[in-house]
Amino acid sequence: MAKVPYKTYLTEEEMPKQWYNIRADMKEQPDPMLNPGTLQPLTSPEDLYPVFCEELCKQEMDSQTRYIDIPEEILDYYKTFRPSPLIRAYHLEKALNTPAKIYFKFEGNNTSGSHKLNAAAAMAYYAKAQGLTALTTETGAGQWGTALSMACAYFGLDLTVYMVKVSYQQKPFRKAVMETYGAKIIPSPSDTTEVGRAILANNPNTGGSLGCAISEAIEVSMRDDSCRYALGSVLNQVLLHQSIIGLESKIAMEKIGEYPDVVIGCAGGGSNLGGLMAAFMQDKLTDKANARFIAVEPASCPSLTRGKYAYDFCDTGRITPLAKMYTLGSDFIPSPNHAGGLRYHGMSPILSKLYYDGYMEAVAVEQNKVFEAATLFAKQEQILPAPESAHAIYGAIQEALKCKKSGEAKTILFGLTGTGYFDMQAYTQFNEGTMTDYVPSDADLQRGFDGLPKVD
Ligand SMILES: *Cc1c(COP(=O)(O)O)cnc(C)c1O
Repeated sequence: MAKVPYKTYLTEEEMPKQWYNIRADMKEQPDPMLNPGTLQPLTSPEDLYPVFCEELCKQEMDSQTRYIDIPEEILDYYKTFRPSPLIRAYHLEKALNTPAKIYFKFEGNNTSGSHKLNAAAAMAYYAKAQGLTALTTETGAGQWGTALSMACAYFGLDLTVYMVKVSYQQKPFRKAVMETYGAKIIPSPSDTTEVGRAILANNPNTGGSLGCAISEAIEVSMRDDSCRYALGSVLNQVLLHQSIIGLESKIAMEKIGEYPDVVIGCAGGGSNLGGLMAAFMQDKLTDKANARFIAVEPASCPSLTRGKYAYDFCDTGRITPLAKMYTLGSDFIPSPNHAGGLRYHGMSPILSKLYYDGYMEAVAVEQNKVFEAATLFAKQEQILPAPESAHAIYGAIQEALKCKKSGEAKTILFGLTGTGYFDMQAYTQFNEGTMTDYVPSDADLQRGFDGLPKVD
């Protein structure tokens, strides 16, 4: 067979025009979200209208519509950064001396440096279409805040971003990028919200957490009827919008006569992995193919591998609906030496359910190993990966090394979610040998579990 090209792109005609809603093919549905006051299941999209814009609430609750048309305006916007390339990692394969074929889908070719722009586009577009004027959100490492700043600038909306305080301090250039796109950035916890003031009163020196920034962003959005909140991961709607990654990957692989034996992604809130794997998981759910799916998460924030599958709040302030998911407890904050993103306490309910039902595997890895993988990849494939993405690289390398042992030429597909240009402090620590690994003890985790809401 002719050698597969290094990069495979789709033509405009080949591009997907619909998102894929994996819930339509799941044999069992994720459990419904619960109202935080009554603990009763949310039954209608209207229950969420105060928080998200209406079309997104409908998508959030829609477990039936298999394909949802991508609005023309979003398809137009996607043209600025899509299609993303499917890349055959020939150089990495050679360095590993593996018979495996390694492919990665590279989502870092836009200013946000990540896949997050796929979902940000939808959130900004639907908010504008509803006549809203502003959005609020949180950001951890900064990619989501940047992505939403870009999309809000394009569609014409104001944006306030609550940025987890440690990253605000570590990544001043992230803030500058967001401000360039017109967003207002506030370090969280802050004194601009009741939630933030309460958290600061308890713990004045806290570096903040995503869960806390989410509470602040929601509180502020609720004050203004022309404003809604946008969340960059975890939610069903976000997995829906990210399905574009896997749909494109599948078409690109068909073009070169390939199909993955293993699909690997890093997992923070689950959106990139959910998006990358959806189209392939559909084949597994409908008995057309049987790929393996592997989530790779940090050992310092191990929600799938060591969390509880339970109802929990999506935020620290406990104002969001409850979701049934793998969680470390909404009070969980990863240890300060944890460098990359992937620091969310919970996990997408869709991914959680698939994992619980045995459709997916998960592994946790310490950060020094992640940066070793990142460095090897950077030297071979020439792309400096985001630390988050490097978790998936690590997973792919492990699978490729297994193939070296067994002599099997498996086809591995992983998601390279983004670039690491804003993570140089972490790379510097790694290069200087000062990066430490911290794996929480069972007692550490128990403190998070103790705070889980009592449901039933
Ligand atoms: C946000 C982010 C992730 C993790 O989020 P998921 O919702 O789990 O995909 C991974 N990689 C990059 C580059 C990110 O910005």
